[in-house]
Amino acid sequence: MKHRTEEKVSATTRAFDVCVIGGGATGAGCALDAQLRGLRTLLLDAGDFASAASSASTKLVHGGVRYLEQAVKDFNLEEYRMVKNALRERLYMLANAPHLAHPAHFVVPVYSWARAAYYLAGMKMYDAVAAESNLFPSRFLSREQTLESMPGLKRQGLRGAVCYSDGQFDDARYDLALIETFIEAGGTALNYARVTGFARDDRGMLSSATVRDQISGEPFSVSVKKFVNATGTGADKIRALANPMLAPRMRPSKGVHLLFPAETFAGTDALLVPHTEDGRVIFAVPWQGRLLVGTTDDEVTAATRMVVTKDEAEYLLRQLNPYLETPLLREQAISGMAGMRPLVAAPRGQTATSKLIRDHEVELDSASGLISILGGKWTTHRLMAEDTIDAVQREMSGSVTSSMTKQHALSGAAGYDKDFCKEIEKEYSLPADVAQHLAGKFGTRALQILELLDENSSWNERVAPGSPVIEAEIIFCVRYEMAETIEDLVARRTGMQFHGWTEALEVAPRVAELLAQEKHWEPGQKADAVSEYSRKIQAFLDELGL
Ligand SMILES: Cc1cc2nc3c(=O)[nH]c(=O)nc-3n(C[C@H](O)[C@H](O)[C@H](O)COP(=O)(O)OP(=O)(O)OC[C@H]3O[C@@H](n4cnc5c(N)ncnc54)[C@H](O)[C@@H]3O)c2cc1C
Repeated sequence: MKHRTEEKVSATTRAFDVCVIGGGATGAGCALDAQLRGLRTLLLDAGDFASAASSASTKLVHGGVRYLEQAVKDFNLEEYRMVKNALRERLYMLANAPHLAHPAHFVVPVYSWARAAYYLAGMKMYDAVAAESNLFPSRFLSREQTLESMPGLKRQGLRGAVCYSDGQFDDARYDLALIETFIEAGGTALNYARVTGFARDDRGMLSSATVRDQISGEPFSVSVKKFVNATGTGADKIRALANPMLAPRMRPSKGVHLLFPAETFAGTDALLVPHTEDGRVIFAVPWQGRLLVGTTDDEVTAATRMVVTKDEAEYLLRQLNPYLETPLLREQAISGMAGMRPLVAAPRGQTATSKLIRDHEVELDSASGLISILGGKWTTHRLMAEDTIDAVQREMSGSVTSSMTKQHALSGAAGYDKDFCKEIEKEYSLPADVAQHLAGKFGTRALQILELLDENSSWNERVAPGSPVIEAEIIFCVRYEMAETIEDLVARRTGMQFHGWTEALEVAPRVAELLAQEKHWEPGQKADAVSEYSRKIQAFLDELGL
């Protein structure tokens, strides 16, 4: 990536074919697809890239076993197709960024033979729907095999488990990798750039947008042939700006996760709790040295805040604990996250959000020319982008060229293999945890971070004792990944906040110092940034009652 000021100059001076509004998974995917087809593309996000739903997911690259069950029970062909597409997309997502996504084993423990037969039949169907895209076949595990894989499972009455395959990934970094790849392909991306209005040509078609630079507060305008609205749960606002006659379509639902120390439930496989009190499933997934537990699915109201409440935490533990030998306690949570799914309302209204299909829809507003991509999920972001850019090309010239993204290695993937981590560990005399962290988050772009040590060898220091993040990583993310705030660095770029709130608060002052140094902040700005970040984390902890 480039420095934000360079990207701003590019955004304000170049003429673009396409402007994608929203830099989450959907917008990043659309921007990359458009640019690779040769369209001059601009990507704008009102906040940081991936700062909304796209860094708050369960981090599963999956078709969704629950959606398949729902499709079969409701005899719903549309939902079946969505699962089938997602299972195919899973392969592309894993192959295009092996440093950020990998296959994983999921285990469904069973306490009755009837349930064992039901889940095994269900997972065999999941394999069959995946067909040639299957990762590895599902199978039954004996009680001994199950306890070997998950020693912390409740033993009494345990018959065994059904084990199936899906993928797991680093959502925030995957989003950033899509954007980096887009920029490498010649695109322009700008974070903290909110679209606030549109201007039209004499046919009433959108021809430019007013954008507010959220850092400087200044407005600027961009002139573009076609606008793509990929703003997730914000889609109705952009639709209304383009055409006030459009009826709202979004029906967001909130989902939360908590993270616990990995040793609270040892094992390398992911646990699927097959039935919750509201008829859903939840997961307890080993993720980056932690146990990630989630998620919820609740209607969003005007009072909803993006925090994990005490009640939500208790709900998650009430579903999970019956499966554990030693129950987890809310007080053991060390981090958490909340996000809103951009679901599209069902035509006739009243369905619970957990029943809404996670499929996507490309909407063309013929009065303004706005193309909105609504709904979907992380796993299908590439397909959503393909469908959207097909629509853009149909509208622009009528001729649709092929999407290039199925097999397009993302930034950091070229030259990456399982030995890469060991190689940098040896070549740069890095501690093993630092090498593993750099390789896992940046792939082969880690080499660019390590080159910064030639400029200042003291940047090989850890940002805090015990943290795998070295100072060069912070400098790199400020210079080349458009990190503007402590949270951009501590949460999405390095993942320290998801690893632990305490750890994040500990590193905040040093991270702010490095930011201040690189950005030539005014005196006082650093202290303000640290207190603002600490207040935000404290508010999260207060809601959780910790
Ligand atoms: C709790 C939870 C768990 C999930 N788990 C999974 C999972 O395991 N696997 C999976 O495949 N999917 C999962 N999903 C779904 C997936 O995360 C979302 O579908 C996906 O991240 C949506 O991406 P998006 O880009 O559409 O929206 P977002 O990530 O919300 O991005 C929209 C962006 O638009 C920007 N924006 C808004 N208004 C403006 C404006 N005016 N100007 C400029 N920018 C603007 C916002 O700042 C934001 O960054 C989960 C979702 C949730 C909430």
